[in-house]
Amino acid sequence: AIPLVVAISTAVSAQNGLLIRNRTAFEESRKISVLLFDKTGTLTKGDFGVTRIQSVDKSYSDQEILRLASALEQSSEHPIAVGILKKVKDEKITIPQLQKFNAITGKGVEASVEGKDIKVVSPGYLRDEKISIPEDAFSDAAETVVFVLVEGKLAGYIALADEIRPESAEAIKIFKKNNIKVLMATGDNEKTAKAVSDKLGLDGYFAEVLPHKKVEIVKELQSKGEFVAMTGDGVNDAPALAQANVGIAVGSGTDVAAETADIILVNSNPQDIANLILFGKATYQKMI
Ligand code: ADP
Ligand code: MG
Repeated sequence: AIPLVVAISTAVSAQNGLLIRNRTAFEESRKISVLLFDKTGTLTKGDFGVTRIQSVDKSYSDQEILRLASALEQSSEHPIAVGILKKVKDEKITIPQLQKFNAITGKGVEASVEGKDIKVVSPGYLRDEKISIPEDAFSDAAETVVFVLVEGKLAGYIALADEIRPESAEAIKIFKKNNIKVLMATGDNEKTAKAVSDKLGLDGYFAEVLPHKKVEIVKELQSKGEFVAMTGDGVNDAPALAQANVGIAVGSGTDVAAETADIILVNSNPQDIANLILFGKATYQKMI
């Protein structure tokens, strides 16, 4: 039989934006000592808008940078892709065809467009390839910047901005009050990660994290005696969600992440996790 407290908590949770897949997760939520959040779509809205387009190689116009990028982004589901395609629609640009699309895990996308090899990639990719990054690319720390390469050469870049969710700050206050450390792991660049972390007063962050590294971060925290809850959305997050003591898949994510997780955060809202923890503590206190 399902213990009454679990049955009640499951019903209450459903009304509060949580689906509890693993019955012990509710009881375990009381023990959480570290919460490791992903950034995009959880602490932030995940709703990117293009703020700047800049050609670097002057044989390309700003519009051409956007057009080339759009060819690749039509095959991607990343929130960055959604932001770029919104801009292309506003500008009424015709999106070119692409061939040989390939996702470069944690770093970007590439394909052949009009016979040329095009990439849209992170600053980390440029560093790896020893391509120098224009100084003005990071004029605003809160922006996420992706670079457009044509035949391996930097043609330009596109800056996008996302917003912090209004609910994040309130949730973090509750975690801190309950002695839970709040950390963030993101594939985004160092400056953007720091800006979000500073603004929310997080206890720390990991930037430019490649997807397979998340499981190592979780293990490392656990080896220090932490009881780790982690949020994730992608297929690549599944191993880390499984490793975490409490794995939380965000609602907008993939099925694979959801199948691995203990809890599904239906509205991707951090405040729902805060409520879960408070409710868990209150329930079990009453029982003792
Ligand atoms: P996160 O989920 O934290 O954004 P990802 O691993 O999905 O981390 O992406 C890491 C970085 O790789 C992004 O910040 C971006 O620079 C680059 N990237 C990933 N997908 C795309 C894409 N479709 N278009 C452009 N850049 C991308
Ligand atoms: Mg991701």
